[in-house]
Amino acid sequence: MGLTGYEFTGHEVVDSHLTLEQALAPIPGHPEVPPEILAEQRLLDVKSWGRLDHLEHRGQIVVNDQITDTVAGFFVEAYNRYFPMGPVVPAANTTFVGIDPEGRPFTGLLGNDTNMMHNNVTSGFNHRPIDGTDRLSTHGYGLAMDVNPGLNAYKRFDAAGNLISSQPANCLEDPNLPGTFSAWHPLVHYMLKRNIIWGGLWHGKVKDNHHFGYDEH
Ligand SMILES: [Zn+2]
Repeated sequence: MGLTGYEFTGHEVVDSHLTLEQALAPIPGHPEVPPEILAEQRLLDVKSWGRLDHLEHRGQIVVNDQITDTVAGFFVEAYNRYFPMGPVVPAANTTFVGIDPEGRPFTGLLGNDTNMMHNNVTSGFNHRPIDGTDRLSTHGYGLAMDVNPGLNAYKRFDAAGNLISSQPANCLEDPNLPGTFSAWHPLVHYMLKRNIIWGGLWHGKVKDNHHFGYDEH
C-alpha cells in the first residue's frame, strides 16, 4: 500500500486477508450500496499490536478515499506508539469467530455492529443506518472508523445528563488501560488536526468514544 512507518514481515498474526471485492461484498439484510459510494472505498492493509497477545497483527480496514491517507497515518502512529488494538477486520467479513452478547458463538461479522463492538473489532465502512434511525451513518460512506469499542463505549444521556445506555455491555472502560481514548490522547489529537472528529467530543446527548469520523455533531 506504500505505507511508511512499518513493513510487513510475513510473521504477523493475520486477522484479515480479503480482496477488495470480498471486503465490499453485499451483506445480507443491509441496504444495497449505491455504486458511487462503493467506488469511493479503499481497502487498507494495516499492522497493529494485539491487545491480548501483544503480538504484531495484520488487519484490514475499508474507508473512503477522502480519508485513506489520514486513516493509514493513524495506524502508523498507533503502531509506533505501541497502542494495543483488537482485531482490525472489515464489516463484510464472513469468517470471524466470536461470542455474541448472549454468550452464543457466531461466525462472520456480516456488518453486525453489536457483535463487532462486543468483540472489540476495529472497522470502517459499514453501509448501515444509525442505530434507532433510518439515517445512514458516516460508516455508510466509509467516512468513519470505530477503534477498540471493547474499551471505549458508545453512551447516551438524557436531557439532565444522566447516562441512559452504554454499549457494548462488556466494555472495560478503564481510562488507565492502554487502548482507551480521552480528549488528550495523542491519537485523538492526530485525527482532530486532520479535521476528523472523535465521538467523545460530540456535543449533545450521545458520546461515542470509539468513533472517529467526518460527523455533523
Ligand atoms: Zn462509529
